[in-house]
Amino acid sequence: MSRQSIRKTIIVISFILFPITLYYFSPYLIIEALTQHVIAGSFIVFSLMLIGSIFIGRLFCGWICPAGGLLESCTIINDHRITIKKAKLIKYLIWFPWILTIMILLLLAKDNLRIDFFYQTWYGISISDPYGFIIYFAVVFLIFILALTLGRRGFCHTVCWMAPFMQLGMWIQKKLHIPHLYLQATAEQCISCNMCSKKCTMSLSVMELVKSGKIEDYDCILCLECVDSCPKNIINLKLK
Ligand code: SF4
Ligand code: SF4
Repeated sequence: MSRQSIRKTIIVISFILFPITLYYFSPYLIIEALTQHVIAGSFIVFSLMLIGSIFIGRLFCGWICPAGGLLESCTIINDHRITIKKAKLIKYLIWFPWILTIMILLLLAKDNLRIDFFYQTWYGISISDPYGFIIYFAVVFLIFILALTLGRRGFCHTVCWMAPFMQLGMWIQKKLHIPHLYLQATAEQCISCNMCSKKCTMSLSVMELVKSGKIEDYDCILCLECVDSCPKNIINLKLK
């Protein structure tokens, strides 16, 4: 089994488990819990994403994210590479007011906070939870429709509320020069076949990055498609 088959199997399984894990990726539950002075499971999960990304970048997006499983399955229907940069601003327009709300609620509740990882639910959606079903299908529909209309990883580029946490982590990693996973390439051996760019899950111009001598990008999810598709084996995952 190739590395990419293993990766895709993992994210598809993660998507199958999404009815169970849904609430741990909920942006709404954080707010609702904080109004009751509770740190919910999704707060902890997003915090771990931020801390983790300082060392492993967006590995979560490429290898674990449940949305990734659905998004990459949708490439069977639409595998269009996304190059519209302005669409990426949408997620920040969502993220900043959301983070601001969380910070205000944290300040208001700072002296009276308790942690409840299983706030509201620990088992995901259930038959007795009709709202859970509505939320689940609404989120899945959003992911599906963006992948179908925009193309490859359409949801990640436009509205994903988890990506900015990891991009912030990558920014901290760069500013503080923290050892982290990254892609390194030997530009001199590149034969300009462009296979890496064609295969890039996040539609990056990988060949140009290789030739610029710097292959790091805030949109890179370390899926390693470029590493595995390069006929000259000149892209490698390293720890620096
Ligand atoms: S640059 Fe390579 S590792 Fe990063 S998203 Fe593109 S294909 Fe994946
Ligand atoms: S796949 Fe490898 S050889 Fe081809 S353009 Fe990319 S880095 Fe160069």
